Amino acid sequence: MKQLDVIIVGGSYAGLSAAMALGRALRHVLIINAGEPANRQTPYAHNFLTHDGQPPAVIADIARQQILAYPTITFKNDSVVGAVQTDRGFEVTTKSGQPYQSRKLLLATGVVDQLPAIDGLADCWGISALHCPYCHGYEVAGQRIGVLANGDLAVEMVRLIQQWSKQLTLFTNGPATLTPDQLDQLTRLNVPIVEPTVRQMVHRQGYVQHLLADDGTTYPLDALFVRPIIAKSNPLADQLGCVSNGMNLIEVTEFGQTNVVGVYAAGDNSTMLRAVSAAVANGTKAGAFLNRELTENDLAFLAL
Ligand SMILES: Cc1cc2nc3c(=O)[nH]c(=O)nc-3n(C[C@H](O)[C@H](O)[C@H](O)COP(=O)(O)OP(=O)(O)OC[C@H]3O[C@@H](n4cnc5c(N)ncnc54)[C@H](O)[C@@H]3O)c2cc1C
Repeated sequence: MKQLDVIIVGGSYAGLSAAMALGRALRHVLIINAGEPANRQTPYAHNFLTHDGQPPAVIADIARQQILAYPTITFKNDSVVGAVQTDRGFEVTTKSGQPYQSRKLLLATGVVDQLPAIDGLADCWGISALHCPYCHGYEVAGQRIGVLANGDLAVEMVRLIQQWSKQLTLFTNGPATLTPDQLDQLTRLNVPIVEPTVRQMVHRQGYVQHLLADDGTTYPLDALFVRPIIAKSNPLADQLGCVSNGMNLIEVTEFGQTNVVGVYAAGDNSTMLRAVSAAVANGTKAGAFLNRELTENDLAFLAL
């Protein structure tokens, strides 16, 4: 089995960006991609310079075409199901049963969003159920916006999102857990609080029409901001011994190095700032540092 320089698990924005840096450094790289990026349901991606308002898949397609122009890069549609450290580097196995070996490994695997169990919410995710006002707030500015959260998070989100619209409603989805000071802030910001459990996000093709509460009341809306729970998209980082923080994000240095020598991580799986631009930037940094590490290893072998 031929040993590659780097296997990149995850061929979306972070993985493709790292591949470009490595391909331009003449490194033999294999990208293995399961093809489920976080923003796959979003019609248009925003806030990424030069591609503002483009469909997310178009941005990724252009990136893939550009990196595949480098002859040392290969891209496979598959899913990595296991990764182990060997005495020569790493071996990964894929769902299709194919093993591959490399000197270094980059996890660019994104994350999985665990949404509140509200009927219809998953269908609206990325369309009118939104995670980030910088990505999608401008498009719903001044409209009827809901915030689905409770406690400190609710106040944090309301304080931020009121910049985009003053027509805000807070849905605590159960009894509010707000301090008197927080209640006072919401009153002064004219944000009504809806406490009954939200039963359904009624929508047309992902565009919300209203929220239906358990008591039968309906609340017409144009968008709902939600902060999902972040889960790992696969157990690879844990299998390899990479340390993660309390938010399920892999701990990395500024340049994407994990605590396991030779294993890097980039993109959503290792940063709280979820944006295409951040994933691309982190991918570039990881790619450059992977090449540097490979170069230093080779020179050390020559006792240089
Ligand atoms: C609903 C939504 C809308 C968004 N809208 C915007 C926006 O408008 N503008 C913006 O800048 N940002 C937006 N974002 C954020 C942006 O999508 C992410 O920051 C970006 O996708 C992160 O890139 P990534 O490469 O780290 O991960 P992802 O793009 O999530 O890609 C990870 C890739 O790794 C693959 N993978 C995972 N495990 C394996 C495995 N075991 N084997 C092989 N492949 C694997 C996945 O299938 C996927 O293809 C949005 C996010 C969400 C959730």
